[in-house]
Amino acid sequence: MMGPGSISEILKREIAAAGFDRCGITPAEELSPEHDLLKRWLSAGCHAGMTFLERNSRRRADASRLFEGARSVAVAAAGYGSPYAAGIVAGPVISRYVTATDYHKVVAGRLQKALSSAAEKIPGMRGRVCVDSAPVMEKPLAVRAGLGCQGRNSLLLIPGVGSYFFLGLIVFNLLAEYDPPLPADPCRSCRKCIDACPTGAISDQGYLDARRCISYLTVERRGGMSGSPGATPGSVAGPEPGPTPGSTMGSVPAPEPGTTPDSMAGDNLFGCDICQDVCPHNNPGNESSIYGLHRDVRLDAITHPEWMRLTPDRFRELFDGTVVERRGYEGFMGNVRALRSE
Ligand code: SF4
Ligand code: SF4
Repeated sequence: MMGPGSISEILKREIAAAGFDRCGITPAEELSPEHDLLKRWLSAGCHAGMTFLERNSRRRADASRLFEGARSVAVAAAGYGSPYAAGIVAGPVISRYVTATDYHKVVAGRLQKALSSAAEKIPGMRGRVCVDSAPVMEKPLAVRAGLGCQGRNSLLLIPGVGSYFFLGLIVFNLLAEYDPPLPADPCRSCRKCIDACPTGAISDQGYLDARRCISYLTVERRGGMSGSPGATPGSVAGPEPGPTPGSTMGSVPAPEPGTTPDSMAGDNLFGCDICQDVCPHNNPGNESSIYGLHRDVRLDAITHPEWMRLTPDRFRELFDGTVVERRGYEGFMGNVRALRSE
């Protein structure tokens, strides 16, 4: 029978061969302290009404529920993106994670291949691949698996990789040799992301208030920006108050009177990378080593007047199979029109 050390070695080798930058393995067990933190974040309202996070919070914290007989989880990270074209953006900014193809499919496909190859070599191995396809706390699992530590901007920072990466999981049925968490505090005295965030969404304790986050406002927010067909005056009102000052999560500054989601978004058309771009752990010039996870640099050359003339056909041509497609043509044009109204 194969030992835990050999199982880890084979699986990690297959995951590296599939193009991933880092991999760590941790037990599939309940993440109780992390679940408590999630509950506090939810009860403070920082999830901005994303109710799916509330509904499955206990399940989300227990990776053993992802797969019948789950014993272990391999967490894999794949760097994404590439530099903006010529280092500049001509028009409104689209986040770096809008890669040329849908990362869910690319990352899941490669992990599935790694799992199949490992299962051919490891007797009795069964597993399931998860890339945003099941409720699970990926970041805390990645921390436990020794990939990196969570930074003040709430993102996982992986030494030598930074925070521009996608995570994927292989949950499997065997005991393996586990990786210890990294001991280091990745931020130390740095607070660049807190100071750079244009909307004050990051608290002094490193909690992110999604209600003030441009990524949430431009990508996830129900009803969209003010230019969306379904938007109502109420849906573009200023953000609600953040966590109570003095709470254990710290506080975010109160918004200026008259602040709206449109005014907070600034030049950001879809997503926001500001708190990552300033982070010293990132090298914005890094190229992804996986084909399909590179940036479509055509997007950086499109000016706002050109976005205003975007047709449904051109939208499909630019975004078919990407995460923007999920927003839909009308939702995306709502963001475009909201920028014009400022
Ligand atoms: S993504 Fe943008 S708005 Fe959100 S916390 Fe980071 S800098 Fe602030
Ligand atoms: S910018 Fe500084 S404080 Fe923010 S996550 Fe990066 S290292 Fe940590």
